[in-house]
Amino acid sequence: MSTIRFNAIKETFNRKPVVIDEQGRRSELFGSNVFNENAMRQFMTKDAYQSVMDAIEFGTKIDRKIADQVAAAMKDWALAKGATHYTHWFQPLTGATAEKHDAFFEPLGNGQAMEKFGGGQLVQQEPDASSFPNGGIRNTFEARGYTAWDPTSPAFIYGTTLCIPTVFVAYTGEALDNKAPLLRALQAVDHAATAVAKYFDKNVTKVNATLGWEQEYFLIDKALVYSRPDIALAGRALLGHSPAKGQQLDDHYFGSIPNRVMSYMRDLEIECMKLGVPVKTRHNEVAPNQFELAPIFEEANLAVDHNSLLMDVMEKTADRHHFRVLFHEKPFAGINGSGKHNNWSLATNTGVNLLGPGSTPMKNLQFLTFFINTIKAVHDYEELVRASIASASNDHRLGANEAPPAIISVFIGEQLTRVLDELEDVSKGKLSPQEKTDLKLNVVGKIPDVLLDNTDRNRTSPFAFTGNKFELRAAGSRANCATPMTVLNTIVARQLKEFKKEVDTLIDKKKLKKDEAIFNVLREYIKASKKIRFEGDGYSDAWEKEAAKRGLSNNKTTPVALKAKVSEKSIELFEEMGVMSKVEVEARHEIELEEYALRIQIEGRILGDIARNHVIPTAVRYQNTLIENVQGLKDIFGKDFKKVASEQMDLVEKISNHIAMINTKVNEMIEERKKANVIEDAQLKADAYCEKVRPYFEEIRYHCDKLEMMIDDELWPLTKFRELLFTR
Ligand code: ADP
Ligand code: MG
Repeated sequence: MSTIRFNAIKETFNRKPVVIDEQGRRSELFGSNVFNENAMRQFMTKDAYQSVMDAIEFGTKIDRKIADQVAAAMKDWALAKGATHYTHWFQPLTGATAEKHDAFFEPLGNGQAMEKFGGGQLVQQEPDASSFPNGGIRNTFEARGYTAWDPTSPAFIYGTTLCIPTVFVAYTGEALDNKAPLLRALQAVDHAATAVAKYFDKNVTKVNATLGWEQEYFLIDKALVYSRPDIALAGRALLGHSPAKGQQLDDHYFGSIPNRVMSYMRDLEIECMKLGVPVKTRHNEVAPNQFELAPIFEEANLAVDHNSLLMDVMEKTADRHHFRVLFHEKPFAGINGSGKHNNWSLATNTGVNLLGPGSTPMKNLQFLTFFINTIKAVHDYEELVRASIASASNDHRLGANEAPPAIISVFIGEQLTRVLDELEDVSKGKLSPQEKTDLKLNVVGKIPDVLLDNTDRNRTSPFAFTGNKFELRAAGSRANCATPMTVLNTIVARQLKEFKKEVDTLIDKKKLKKDEAIFNVLREYIKASKKIRFEGDGYSDAWEKEAAKRGLSNNKTTPVALKAKVSEKSIELFEEMGVMSKVEVEARHEIELEEYALRIQIEGRILGDIARNHVIPTAVRYQNTLIENVQGLKDIFGKDFKKVASEQMDLVEKISNHIAMINTKVNEMIEERKKANVIEDAQLKADAYCEKVRPYFEEIRYHCDKLEMMIDDELWPLTKFRELLFTR
């Protein structure tokens, strides 16, 4: 009997939900471990408080004296809450988060000690970060990296550590993390969108991008995960036959949440409340043991930090509940994968959602302006948007029938399509009074009532308008939202800048009125961006053909998709908008390619190991039992034995064939890996892993899965899908 598997199952059966102490009302817990406005007011001098608020709102610098005051206040607050250490918390290019803890404690040299934390330690640190990926930046410049305080994301206490959100940059200025380019992109979109929003309201002085992510994940019992080396190491099942019952009955989605999972969710939510992560909804997802968590949207930088933090909290909390969280985009073949929808919009400091239709024609023209510019931006940079969500694991999900295709398109719904169709017919140049009235009454005037009763949804679209925001649905569950958010905000910033220039030209040179100029430019954008709009079934083969005809990209694998990041067009965009230099873009590209190759390499090794050391020996053992049986039958039945042993003999032969195929394919895969490993160029290496190594996975898996269905269940060493997915 396979002891690991059956012990794991037994352990899982005996689990009880962890008892949760609610620790008071959620509203009272909210933000209790965050150095937020409330805490700042309480612990800081007026001057220091004002400086930080100005830095948050206007990006002004905080001088050293004030930084000392802020640090002192932070320390007092943190010590009062029981913190013993502090860390600069940052997001290196691994996509995860990093931290190096230092104690507040400092010996004074006379046998005494005290807690110390000054402005210097708050503002800047130099982590020994030589082993974070940097794409050659620090080698090229022989520069060291440092982390620098980001006052726009508040410090928080996690466990007993004060965490200070920071950017991570080289001394020569290049960003070595995901946050620095995001902050630059957010600044770019703020400037561009504010300038455009002023057409409609002079009081607007700042525009924030908003982000509300939806985190999908699987929860699998820890013991079961450790019984599967593939899931434990690669985060997904590299083999395993689909269970007889999967998700066909749709009985999990929005169903009642299992007890142990409910405990986990409550525990997680309490942690989130303390950390100021405004989580709001929880429910079952489509696949068995798949769930989702979503917060109320926030300013994008904070939302990105909160998602990164959340993923960490989810893993730590899961441990207490004897679960492992799988963030992989496709942990189980044949079962729905996990995404992380990025709901995105733009909000003014006057409290207006620029993608929300309003109550007057002018407000709706504002809505249409931002709406159409976003569509145009995605149209112009569809390949870059695709690249921003590319990863080895997301490749399994995109285009895999329950996830958006690798083709980027925009869904806007029937009603808004009609509005854009009408705007397309607006006259060139000056508009007659009749036309203006008509537009006001019948086109821009009608949008709000149109959208309210419009619950038009298209779950097959990678980028869908959902009433008052766009939803980038193609992002993977494991992704750091900073990457797609940097791209989206940068392309929209560039587009709005362009728009402003064109409108101003029409006003100055052609003497058009402001609204006439806006209508004129929007009309051209609607025409120019038409091919990105698609309302039909994004999963259908017909769309793939249609998209190809339209000239849209369909980059199915990461090594291909990533190329768009380093195209001349993209580099120009990033440089023009001040988001990334060529060096920074290329460094990131290289890191992503390297990561891709590494992930496939790791999966290849694990699969080879499991196939050789777990599957084949088990198959041989079972085959021996069969052979013994046939031998016995021969003893009893003599020369007639074949009549009674034919099934067994057939199995013996089939098992041999599968074993032979597994062995051959594993050998071939290893040879391909060897060849790929000596390739120096990151692109060619990733290509080799993608085109030469990866195809073996399916072949090897096929034969292993066939054996799983043939071999005595008691002998099979790998916990089966039905056990992984239906035990909780
Ligand atoms: P769904 O039906 O897709 O779940 P919801 O309205 O519940 O739609 O919103 C899903 C996510 O979108 C939530 O995280 C929510 O906070 C976010 N969201 C709503 N409005 C905005 C906005 N203006 N900007 C960014 N995100 C938003
Ligand atoms: Mg969802």
